[in-house]
Amino acid sequence: MTDFDVIIVGSGPAGGNAALELADTGLRTLILEKSELPRNKPCGGAMPGSAQNLVDVDISPVIANRTPVIKLYNNYDDELHLSSPGENAPVLVRRNEFDHYLIKQAIEKGNGAVVLRENCKVVLENETDFAVNVSVNEHEVITAKLLIAADGANSRIASKLGLLPHRKFAAALESEIVTTHAHYQAHSDVMLMNLFCLRHGYGWIFPKEPNTLSCGVGVWGNHIKLRNELKLFIERSIPKSAIASEEKQGWPIPIYQGYEAISTQRVLLVGDAAALVDPVSGEGIRYALHSGKLAAAAITRNLGDSGASHTTVGGTYQKLVDNEIGVDLLRKLKFDSLAFRASPDYFYNTFVKSQKNLPYTD
Ligand SMILES: Cc1cc2nc3c(=O)[nH]c(=O)nc-3n(C[C@H](O)[C@H](O)[C@H](O)COP(=O)(O)OP(=O)(O)OC[C@H]3O[C@@H](n4cnc5c(N)ncnc54)[C@H](O)[C@@H]3O)c2cc1C
Repeated sequence: MTDFDVIIVGSGPAGGNAALELADTGLRTLILEKSELPRNKPCGGAMPGSAQNLVDVDISPVIANRTPVIKLYNNYDDELHLSSPGENAPVLVRRNEFDHYLIKQAIEKGNGAVVLRENCKVVLENETDFAVNVSVNEHEVITAKLLIAADGANSRIASKLGLLPHRKFAAALESEIVTTHAHYQAHSDVMLMNLFCLRHGYGWIFPKEPNTLSCGVGVWGNHIKLRNELKLFIERSIPKSAIASEEKQGWPIPIYQGYEAISTQRVLLVGDAAALVDPVSGEGIRYALHSGKLAAAAITRNLGDSGASHTTVGGTYQKLVDNEIGVDLLRKLKFDSLAFRASPDYFYNTFVKSQKNLPYTD
């Protein structure tokens, strides 16, 4: 007998949405998170409007803003305005609030079946024919029938299993800027993306209430000094007099590389742990939510009331991800080298202008 049916390691959008989906199945689910919630996560917090449909509860209480206008530049030039009004408008969230909200909703919905433990650093011990064993803070061993690894970009669980051995990373640095109210008001409905304002990368400015801008740069390759690039981008994009305070934070972004194994028989990698991130834009929240949902679907399909064998959970999950997420990311992967290496201008003029390959839209 295992301690739990499912252990979820990590409480980001991938782990949170998996927990939410499992909450009404009655499966005994334990979420283990190394930080204390709400925890901070450097992130622009932008999602396409449609990402809301991936979450089975109303997320409007934690939407910090909707931005009906997307303003694009090609290296500070060639301004392009796109509008996506109403429900289709991209959504902006503050990650500490959004991620915590999903977990709280899962616990409430689970009515005792979903349990959260914070300050729990997890190491995968082993996977047997019958169970998965993890150790917590180096002194306690907990067992479950299945494990959802939602432990983010530097997933130790993926490494321990030898999955995704050739993980490729982009790097991003974000600054949360508190602006004057007047500046914020003038830009509050615009999501700005300045493509190729740095070599192999782009800059963004996303407005989040109250009076806060997520301003950042991302780069596809690790040979660029991001601090300097971010400083230049902010200097050229926001008047100094409008900045009240700023706080910088960086983190790696694992980039999707094509169909690869992201599960074993009993362990399912989700979100950044599975490198399910748009290889051109670095957008990852929607894929984290989606893969969390698919992991729960694979589990309930194989381990639910039917009593069917759970030996196929990993296989079912892999197929679901390849079909529902992999196809989309593989199509985007074709643009990666064109956009950031071969011909940024051709990419911008041909695909961005015709709105065929835009991040944070549907
Ligand atoms: C600067 C920046 C800006 C970004 N902007 C956007 C954006 O605007 N839109 C977008 O869609 N994507 C964006 N992304 C990508 C997005 O942040 C990620 O794709 C998303 O957070 C993935 O969610 P996740 O649940 O897989 O992992 P995470 O959100 O990273 O959560 C992983 C969790 O696991 C926990 N954990 C790790 N190891 C352990 C352990 N051993 N034991 C227990 N717990 C553990 C961590 O504490 C964390 O809470 C951005 C990324 C960066 C770096």
